[in-house]
Amino acid sequence: EVVVLRLGHRPGRDNRMTTHVGLTARALGADRVIISGAASGSKGTIEDITDRFGGPFDAELTEEPRGVIRGFEGTVVHLTMYGLPIQAVESEVRSDHEEGSLLVVVGAEKVPFDVYERADYNVGVTNQPHSEVAGLAVFLDRLFEGRELEREWDDATHRVIPKAIGKQVEPTEAAGSADDATLTDTDAVDGAEPSDDTH
Ligand code: SAM
Repeated sequence: EVVVLRLGHRPGRDNRMTTHVGLTARALGADRVIISGAASGSKGTIEDITDRFGGPFDAELTEEPRGVIRGFEGTVVHLTMYGLPIQAVESEVRSDHEEGSLLVVVGAEKVPFDVYERADYNVGVTNQPHSEVAGLAVFLDRLFEGRELEREWDDATHRVIPKAIGKQVEPTEAAGSADDATLTDTDAVDGAEPSDDTH
C-alpha cells in the first residue's frame, strides 16, 4: 500500500494545493491520501473525482498528522528539497515497498524537524525548492517506474477517450444504460478538471 500524507493546511490559501496533492496521489498510483481535518472541501473534491473517474482510492481527514507518521507500520518517506537525491535512494525505497507499506509525507509550510528524524528516508526531487505536487508526481513515477500510467480504474461512471485534439468523455457501463450515449460535450470534461474555485 502507498499512502500519501499532506502535512499542514492553511485554509483558503492551501485549498487547491491540498486538492491537487490528493488528485495527483490518486492519478499516479497511490492507494489513499490523508489530509488535514481543515481540508474537508478538498476531501469532497477528491471523492467526487474518484466517483466519476474510478478508483479504488480513499481520502481521509486527520487532526493528528504527526500521530499518523508515528503510528505508521511501514517505511516513511519525507519529500524535502534538503533530502538525499531521489535517484540515489529510489531502488532502496522500491525494495522496501516490495516488503511492506509506504507513507509518503509532503509538507505545506515549514515541516517540523521531528518529521526529518522519524522519516526512514528524506528524499529530494532535485535539491531546489518547488512544490509538493511536483515532488509527489516525480516520486510516484520513479517508485512505480512508469507502470502507474497504464493503470485500470474500477467503478468509474465516466472515462476520457484520448484524442489528439478535442475533448471526449464517455459514460462507462457502470454508469448504466440510461445515459449510454457518447458524450462529446466539453462540460463533462471541464466539470471534471479541478478549477480555480474548487477546494
Ligand atoms: N520551506 C518549507 C520547508 O522548509 O519545510 C517547504 C515548503 S514547500 C513549498 C512545500 C513542500 O513541497 C515541502 O514540504 C516538500 O514536501 C515539497 N518540496 C518542495 N521542494 C521539493 C524538492 N525539491 N524535493 C522534494 N519535495 C519538495
